[in-house]
Amino acid sequence: MTATIIDGNALSKKLRAEVATRAAALTARGHQPGLAVVLVGDNPASEVYVRNKIKACEDNGLYSSYDRYPASLSEADLLKRIDELNRDPKINGILVQLPLPKHIDSHKVIEAIAPEKDVDGFHVANAGALMTGQPLFRPCTPYGVMKMFEEYKIPLEGASAVVIGRSNIVGKPMALLLLEKGATVTICHSKTRDLAKHTRDADIVVAAVGKRNVLTADMIKPGATVIDVGMNRDDNGKLCGDVDFAGLKDVAGFITPVPGGVGPMTITMLLVNTIEAAERAAAA
Ligand code: NAP
Repeated sequence: MTATIIDGNALSKKLRAEVATRAAALTARGHQPGLAVVLVGDNPASEVYVRNKIKACEDNGLYSSYDRYPASLSEADLLKRIDELNRDPKINGILVQLPLPKHIDSHKVIEAIAPEKDVDGFHVANAGALMTGQPLFRPCTPYGVMKMFEEYKIPLEGASAVVIGRSNIVGKPMALLLLEKGATVTICHSKTRDLAKHTRDADIVVAAVGKRNVLTADMIKPGATVIDVGMNRDDNGKLCGDVDFAGLKDVAGFITPVPGGVGPMTITMLLVNTIEAAERAAAA
């Protein structure tokens, strides 16, 4: 079997065109959607992510503001800026790029963002609402994966799904979104005794670990859908995921590549969440 490659770039392009149309409609009514991006410190990976997010806003008709602070910024000053952004009517979404410098409590910062502007979906109010089934925002990466299932008509109801990883930003919300759609979900992590025992029975495996070759061809059943969230570097410094793509593509039914899979979807869903926030604000 040769797997169908799930093309995150193509799906992103399609969804971003929809975002641009919705942004133009809001702008025509005097409600241009706006995203505030806040970066503290000079982590090079964060700088790339932030640049890509701002460019995605510009390319699709969203307004963006960019606050860039040195690593020495105090927690109190960051909280003060978030308070201003919470009250700024031009801003519908606030994104504070993580990780923050060690002297700043990121939990406190996330909780300071107004839940209706928490486009990352990390605020405890939105995380709790995801648990009870009515979130204002779904966290961007797992939300993007759900769009992939929808686009490729991968059945979720009654499917057996394994999520590898239990972080608050990927693994846990991914499991909840799959559960919401009727999948039977198992969450595996670093303490799981026999990972292959779980993955071999699964119709869907989502790997969100941050380690290469966590999933290999002998660990899945033929025809399974494999979603690779991981972003790692191989021995030559090339971007790669968590799964052994070369081996798995001959066994899986569907598989996401790295790069060009989940990665582009994350920023796209950030735009979608910002548009949804702007539409809600415009209707209020
Ligand atoms: P994280 O917070 O470090 O969580 C990693 C999870 O993997 C933890 O739950 C950990 O278990 C589990 N784990 C570690 N080793 C394992 C093993 N050998 N077997 C099974 N589970 C294991 O990472 P994250 O923030 O969720 O991100 C995961 C990966 O996705 C990273 O590579 C990150 O760069 C990438 N990512 C990509 C995107 C994108 O847009 N493509 C977005 C976000 C993240 P414990 O809880 O027991 O420690």
